Amino acid sequence: MTVRRCPGVLLVIAALALTGCTSAASLPASTSTPTSAEAAYTPVLAEALAEPAIASSTDGLVHLAYELELTNVLSEPVTLDALTVLADGVTVQTLSGDGLAARMTEIGSTDPATTTLTAGRSVIVYLDVAVASNEVPSTLSHHLDIAPETGHPPVFDTPMSETVATLSVDTEEPVVVGAPLAGDGWFDANSCCDMTAHRLAVNPLNGSYYVPERFAIDFVQLDAQGRVFDGAVDDLSSYAYEGAEVLAVADATVVSVTSDREEQVPGANPAGGLTLDEYGGNYIVLDIGGGNYAFYAHLQPGNPMGLTVGQTVSRGDVIGYLGNSGNSSAPHLHFHIMDSASPLASNGVPFVFDQFTLAGTVPRSGDDACVMESVACELDTADAGERTEESPLNGDVLDFG
Ligand SMILES: [Zn+2]
Repeated sequence: MTVRRCPGVLLVIAALALTGCTSAASLPASTSTPTSAEAAYTPVLAEALAEPAIASSTDGLVHLAYELELTNVLSEPVTLDALTVLADGVTVQTLSGDGLAARMTEIGSTDPATTTLTAGRSVIVYLDVAVASNEVPSTLSHHLDIAPETGHPPVFDTPMSETVATLSVDTEEPVVVGAPLAGDGWFDANSCCDMTAHRLAVNPLNGSYYVPERFAIDFVQLDAQGRVFDGAVDDLSSYAYEGAEVLAVADATVVSVTSDREEQVPGANPAGGLTLDEYGGNYIVLDIGGGNYAFYAHLQPGNPMGLTVGQTVSRGDVIGYLGNSGNSSAPHLHFHIMDSASPLASNGVPFVFDQFTLAGTVPRSGDDACVMESVACELDTADAGERTEESPLNGDVLDFG
């Protein structure tokens, strides 16, 4: 059983045609210094998919989660030796070797990414830069140590370094919302900032990339014994929280409601055949103001509250019931905040819950089989306690009361 694939769209980008890129063989002879500050030759291009934005998290740090698309424009392979992130010019993170490869996906390939980019290939690097709340930078820049296969002196050597992608950090306070669920023991699966299915759901739509689920959470509820389900894995009634009330997280206007999709049999991902729109199953989008939208997915069918587009709801109102519709293999609530009304063609923005109690954390690097099997989750409760305006991290267990 998995709740890892909802409602994300796998990165499915067929061969990108790189046009206009300069091959080393076609470079004109140069008598000037090519690495001057005005015109530094950078055979690996870097572009951010979104501006980094801040949110305080349950580990006491501010996480800047964003992605860089790196493209090797040469006609020869380039190895990425290291990627260094500088916050206002100070090194805060260096990734290299397997550690760098583990944070990458290669565009146009389902194979595990490697740090060698063949000619013309692109990768996406999924970054998580965690800083103290009093050390939030205004800019992030990136230093790449790279090794083109042969180099092309005097235009560029191998190995070489380049500075790329200087980004402004959005230091506006993150969106503050109320609880989307009531009760205790809500296990946060697949949220910021690990390499989860949410994070990797980079959607090529309308000619651009969108990452709507960058900060999305899948909520399942642990019972008194710490289990997600008790009984047959393929029986909805084994999941005690199925049908839990789903709440408006803010005063809002209903933007869209989809409610005619049957629930899936739990225990396995649904067989293929889902359209992009069907991935979310029965879903609701609320306009919560400020250009932000709340997205709730995989609800039970039937629109039990009779929501209509344009209707206003108040924070705490019941708007539906947790279900297992769409691209879902176990009952759960998929929740995120995005910057447009489209669940797919939008950009995920960080958000914090105004108040909750952190019951504990299922170790993120450990075995999370408790979510997949009918066994008790072991919680690390060292950091348990009341939390105000924080964003949970992957593996946290929240009591909303
Ligand atoms: Zn999800």
